[in-house]
Amino acid sequence: MRDAILVLNAGSSSIKFSLFADADGTLGLQCGGQIEGLYTAPRFLARDARGATLSEKRWGEGERLGHEGALLHLREFLRGELADFRLSGIGHRVVHGGLEFTRPVRLSAEVLAALEKFIPLAPLHQPHNLAPIRMLLEGAPEVAQVACFDTSFHRSNPELAQRFAIPAELHDAGVRRYGFHGLSYEYIASVLSQHDPAAAAGRTVVLHLGNGASMCALDGGKSVASTMGFTAVDGLPMGTRCGAIDPGVLLYLMDERGMDARAIEKLIYQQSGLLGVSGISSDMRTLLASDEPRARLAVDLYLYRIRRELGSLAAALGGLDAIVFTAGIGENSAAIRARVLADADWLGIKPSARANAKGGPRISAARSRVSAWAIPTNEELMIARQTRRVLAAS
Ligand code: ADP
Repeated sequence: MRDAILVLNAGSSSIKFSLFADADGTLGLQCGGQIEGLYTAPRFLARDARGATLSEKRWGEGERLGHEGALLHLREFLRGELADFRLSGIGHRVVHGGLEFTRPVRLSAEVLAALEKFIPLAPLHQPHNLAPIRMLLEGAPEVAQVACFDTSFHRSNPELAQRFAIPAELHDAGVRRYGFHGLSYEYIASVLSQHDPAAAAGRTVVLHLGNGASMCALDGGKSVASTMGFTAVDGLPMGTRCGAIDPGVLLYLMDERGMDARAIEKLIYQQSGLLGVSGISSDMRTLLASDEPRARLAVDLYLYRIRRELGSLAAALGGLDAIVFTAGIGENSAAIRARVLADADWLGIKPSARANAKGGPRISAARSRVSAWAIPTNEELMIARQTRRVLAAS
C-alpha cells in the first residue's frame, strides 16, 4: 500500500486541501480542492490532478456548516480517495511560528498550546489554522500531524532586518519583523537552481504577487529580508490590504475619526489596497480590464510600490542576479510583469517581450545581466515535503 500525505490550509471561511501520494520518494498530487463559504453559503469542490471534478456539494444557508462540519465532510470524501493508501500524516499551514518554531514541527497538545500563544500576533489567521489541528488531536489522536509555518523561512534574516527602531523591551517581547509567505519562498528557492544555478547561489528577489503580496530577498537561497513585517499587512499594497503606511496615519484616525482598533483593522485589512484605491475591485484582472481612471491609479500605485521595494531589497542584498515572479498575478499577468521589468531596467534587467508573453519560465533576454523568471509556486507541495521529512525523523 502506498503512503499519502494530506495538506490542510484552514482560513476563516474556507478549508483548502491537497492529497499527495508518495511514490518512491516523489510526492504526486492525487486530488485537491476546498470547502469555501463556511457559515454563509458553503460549497465543496474536489478535483483530480488533471483538474477534472471528482465531487461537488452545496449546502443551504440554513445549514450553517462550520469548520467542524467541513472537516467531517472532507473525511467522508477522503475515505474513498484513500482506499488504496495509508495516510502517513497531515501537514497544516500555520501562519505564525513566532521565534520559537524555526522549522516544521510534529504536533502535540503541548505544541498546540505554544502555537495558541501566537494568536494575538495573527488574530485573523492563526485561530483558523489551529482549529482543525485541535479537532483532529481530540477526535483522531492516532493521526500524525505536522505544522508548517509561513514565518520559519525568514528566521535566517539578520538581526538588523528583523528589528524595528523601538525600545529594546518591546523588541525582546516579540515586537519585530517576522515576514510571511515563507512556504512559497522556500519552494521557489528549492526549484530555482534547476532554472538558474548561478542565481540560486547568488542574490535573488522573489515577488509573490497574489491576493496577499510580498517580496523576499534571497541570498544563496536563504531569506535575508522581506517586505512583510510584524503582520502580513505590511509592505506592498495587496488585494484589500494597504501595505506599508505611516503609523501616524493610524494615530490620526484614532484621534480625529474616533476609530478604534477593530475599525482600523477592517480598514487596513479589508477595505484598502487595490480595492480601496480603485473603489472597484480587489481582483487584478478586473482592474486591468477597466477603463476607469481609478482602476488605472490602483494598478499604477501597486507597480510604484513594487518598484521601490525592489530597489530596497536589491540594496539589502548589495546587488542583484535574478528576480522571480510567482503567485496568481506574478504567474499569470504578462502585463504586470512587463511593467515591473521595464521599471527595473536600471538594475540591469533586459526583458524578452516574447518570452514574457508566453509565460516563461525565463522572461529576460539572453543579454540581460540580471535574469528574470516566472515560476509557479507550490506551497502545498512544500508543506507535504516538510511533513514527510518531519514524520521520517520522528
Ligand atoms: P491567494 O493569495 O488568495 O492565493 P492567488 O495567488 O490565487 O491569491 O492570486 C490571486 C490574484 O491573482 C487575483 O488578484 C487575480 O486577479 C490575479 N490573477 C490571476 N490570474 C490573473 C491574470 N491572468 N491576470 C492578472 N491577474 C491575475
